[in-house]
Amino acid sequence: MKIGSGISQRLHARVLRNETGYAAAPEGRGVRKASGHPRASRMVAFSQQSVGMVGPGLKRFLALAGRNLEGEGLPLKAALYHGRRDVRIQEVEEPVPEPGQVKIEVRWCGICGSDLHEYRAGPVFIPREDPHPLTGQTLPVILGHEFSGQVFETGGGVTRVVPGDRVVVEPILRCGVCRWCRRGQYNLCAKSGFLGLSGGGGGFAHYVVVPEEYVHPLPGNLDFEKAALAEPLAVALHAVRRGQLRAGERVSIFGAGPIGLAVLLAAKAAGASQVIVSEVVMARREKAAALGADTTIDPRKESVPRVIRQVTRGAGVNVAFETSGTPGGLGDALRSLDKGGRVVVVSLWEDRIQVDFNRLVIPEREIIGSLGYCGEFPAVLALMADGRLDPYPLITRRIDLVDLVAGGFERLVQNPKEVKILVQPG
Ligand SMILES: [Zn+2]
Ligand SMILES: [Zn+2]
Repeated sequence: MKIGSGISQRLHARVLRNETGYAAAPEGRGVRKASGHPRASRMVAFSQQSVGMVGPGLKRFLALAGRNLEGEGLPLKAALYHGRRDVRIQEVEEPVPEPGQVKIEVRWCGICGSDLHEYRAGPVFIPREDPHPLTGQTLPVILGHEFSGQVFETGGGVTRVVPGDRVVVEPILRCGVCRWCRRGQYNLCAKSGFLGLSGGGGGFAHYVVVPEEYVHPLPGNLDFEKAALAEPLAVALHAVRRGQLRAGERVSIFGAGPIGLAVLLAAKAAGASQVIVSEVVMARREKAAALGADTTIDPRKESVPRVIRQVTRGAGVNVAFETSGTPGGLGDALRSLDKGGRVVVVSLWEDRIQVDFNRLVIPEREIIGSLGYCGEFPAVLALMADGRLDPYPLITRRIDLVDLVAGGFERLVQNPKEVKILVQPG
């Protein structure tokens, strides 16, 4: 089956027009909520499949991504991105898992900074005219990529999970066959995208269907709320690994938004001996202090490199994490380093900036890019399950899907005290 731009037109056509509120709960929700697995009879029996570099589920997912809004079944609510400041809660049809795919009933889905960026200034990564190479979709797309849920139904050949399993989804879309995928760096895939941004469904919906390869079962005691934070924590752990942070080393973090705070948690879990956070918003500095930052600095009031020298007895830090996306942040990050130190740049940039490379060459420092995650989900889940990574304090609000725009996006735009808002689809 060849995917073309016709998919997006069909998506338009298949999205039901009723945009009224939740009062008109679709029939059949009772079935969905019932315990046990009423749809188990629809599970396709296991059949032996040939599994190459690209699993059968991924192949079908890529071929049939457009089906996410087109499956059979009853209409359910989802948040669709139509354009800048145009996110609509609409009814979509229930997705049906193909062989190799898993249908998940979403429990909690976090609002990410990138969702907010798309809302305020997008479309940035959301495909507008050119269909995404893996999903074949253009907007409108279902948003949401930081989600946990319960397996509702599995397609044929799925062996890693069964209905009822509690899971989290790793949402990086990858082709599985390019040079980077083949060497295991799927975050660098030539065609990479994100479930919940690039099409293929998303977590701001009752159900989502994903390839089996993207699903990670939750360790026994890990709850759905914490699990919904696995994605930003995986970003943070990847950054910590990219920076080769070793136990006992000193760390500085520039920016204390959700990712900066997640890096703080991950750096402490990795054994950082001292963590210094630079952030302009007081509420976020307070949050960083509550999460264990040893020193917090307002870069508008103090010279950050000078304070860092003071509190590290002149040494500076071993690893600096830039999460603010500001030229001042990167400049201060470089100046805060000990000789031989590393700056890990996690933020994305809207403008080019100037860097004084003598600050890099002469003290043999390094600047390292860090993109998403690649293999960090199991470690994040294990660290959360044993309590070494506790993301609860990052959750500042919980809302229903119908409140996503006013109580989620708009609130995040207006209130910097908010860190992570979790959304419940039903
Ligand atoms: Zn995210
Ligand atoms: Zn690839």
